[in-house]
Amino acid sequence: MKTVLIANRGEIARRIIRTCKAKGIRTIAVHSEADASMPFVREADAAVVIGPPPVAKSYLNMEAILQAAKEQGADAIHPGYGLLSENGSFARRCAEEGIVFIGPHPEVMEDMGDKIRARARMIEAGVPVVPGYNGSIADAEEACHIAAGIGYPVMLKASAGGGGIGMQVCENEEEVRKAFQSAKGRAKAYFGNDDMFIEKYIEEPHHIEVQIAGDKHGQIIHLFERECSIQRRHQKVIEESPSPFLDNATREAICQTAVQAAQAVGYTGVGTVEFIMNGEKEFFFLEMNTRLQVEHPVTEAVTGFDLVEMQLAIAEEKALTFSQEEVMQRGHAIELRIYAEDPVTFMPSPGTISRYEQPEGKGIRVDDAVESGSTITPFYDPMIGKLIVSGSTRTEAITRAEEALTQYVIEGIKTNLPMLGDVLHNETFAAGIYTTQFVQQMKRATNK
Ligand code: ADP
Ligand code: ADP
Ligand code: MG
Repeated sequence: MKTVLIANRGEIARRIIRTCKAKGIRTIAVHSEADASMPFVREADAAVVIGPPPVAKSYLNMEAILQAAKEQGADAIHPGYGLLSENGSFARRCAEEGIVFIGPHPEVMEDMGDKIRARARMIEAGVPVVPGYNGSIADAEEACHIAAGIGYPVMLKASAGGGGIGMQVCENEEEVRKAFQSAKGRAKAYFGNDDMFIEKYIEEPHHIEVQIAGDKHGQIIHLFERECSIQRRHQKVIEESPSPFLDNATREAICQTAVQAAQAVGYTGVGTVEFIMNGEKEFFFLEMNTRLQVEHPVTEAVTGFDLVEMQLAIAEEKALTFSQEEVMQRGHAIELRIYAEDPVTFMPSPGTISRYEQPEGKGIRVDDAVESGSTITPFYDPMIGKLIVSGSTRTEAITRAEEALTQYVIEGIKTNLPMLGDVLHNETFAAGIYTTQFVQQMKRATNK
C-alpha cells in the first residue's frame, strides 16, 4: 500500500495521516469547499476538492471521491468514522474500481449496520441481546401491542440509526402512540430507511463496549473494554478504559462475548461490539460498529497498539502479529470530547475560533481538527477535538485531565469545556459508579 485516500475530514483525517506518514505511505485528502483551509487538507501530501459544503454533495459523494482516488493513484481508501465508513455500497464501488476499502467485507457491514438484522445474527450466535422485538414494526397500533408484551419502559429505535439519532424512550402506551410516527419520519429523513423496532429500556445502565480486531486469516482478538456511559443526547462525551464498574470475571466474560460476536459474522478489520449493562452486571448486545471509533485512542493508550496501523496491516492481508495473551491493559486512560456546543443546552454552537491553544504535558494526547482562525461550520459534526489523558491509575488520569482542561484556550465560540470540568470534579464520577443517566442527574443537581 503506497497511497491512501482519506474519505473523511477533521481530527480523524489528521489522525489517519499521522500513522500513514510514520509508515511512509502517501496520503490524499478530499475536502469540501468549506474545509479548504482546515489543517487536515494541508497536512496530507495532496488534496482534492470534491464539492460544495453539504455532505451529500461532498463527503458522501461516492463518485467524486472515487474519481479523486483514481486520479491520484490511491491503492486504498480509509473512510474514518461516520460519513461513508459503514456504507456497504461504497465498499462495493471501491472493489469494482480495484481500490481497497479499509474495513470489513461489505456484507458484514450491511448485516451489522441494520440493527434488526444484527440482533437476529447475534441471537443465532448465542450472544445475549436486549430483550425486544426483532422485526420492522408497521404502525403505532402494532408498536403498542409489542411494547405491552415487552413491558414498559421501552425504547423505539431506528434500525439504521447511529450517532444517538432516531431513538425514543417511552414510559407507557400513550407515549408510544405519540412518538411512533414522528420517530419513523425522523429515521426516514436521517437514514433514508424508516424500519423501526422496539427494545426493553434498560434503566440506569452502563454503556460498555469492546474493541476487537480480526485478520483475514481467521484470527480474532479483543483489546479490552471502554466505559462510555458519560453521554448527552445518547451520544458519548467521555470514555475511559478500563471501566471502573467491571470486575475481572465480568471483564473476561464481556470481552469473550465480543470475540464470539465477531467470529459469528466472520469479522475482519477493527471494530467495536457495544453492550448495555444493568446494575447486576448482566450485559446485552446493542450494536456493532464496523469501523474505527471516535474513542479508539483510550484503547491505544492502555494497550500500546496503533489501531490505524492495525487497520492498514489487516487491509494488506497481513496476519495479526500477536496473540490474545500478549494484549495487556496497562494504566488508565480517559478521553474527553471537546464540542462547539452550548454547555447547558448541548446544542451545537458553530462559529470561528479566534484563539486556540491546546494543553500539553506528561500523559496528554490531543487529537484535534482546528487551529486559531478555524471555523466550525453547521454542515458537519461540531466536534473540535479530543483530549486523551493517561496515568498509571484512574486517579492520576483524572488529576491530569483536570489540569489539562485548565490549559485549553478556545475563544470566539461556546464549547462544552465547562461541562467536562464539572464531570471531572464530580464525586460520583470520581467514585467511578456512574451510569448513562449521569449527565442528566448532574444537571438536575446543579439546577437545584
Ligand atoms: P462512536 O460510535 O465512534 O463512539 P459517534 O456515535 O459519536 O461515535 O459517531 C461518530 C460520528 O459518526 C459522529 O460524527 C456521528 O455524528 C456520526 N454518525 C454515526 N453514525 C451515523 C449515521 N448512521 N448516520 C450519520 N452519522 C452518523
Ligand atoms: P447508536 O447507533 O446511535 O450509537 P445505540 O444502540 O448504540 O445507538 O445506543 C446509543 C445509546 O443509547 C446507548 O449508549 C445508551 O446510552 C442508549 N440506549 C440504547 N439502547 C438502550 C436500551 N435498550 N436501554 C437503555 N439505553 C439504551
Ligand atoms: Mg452505538
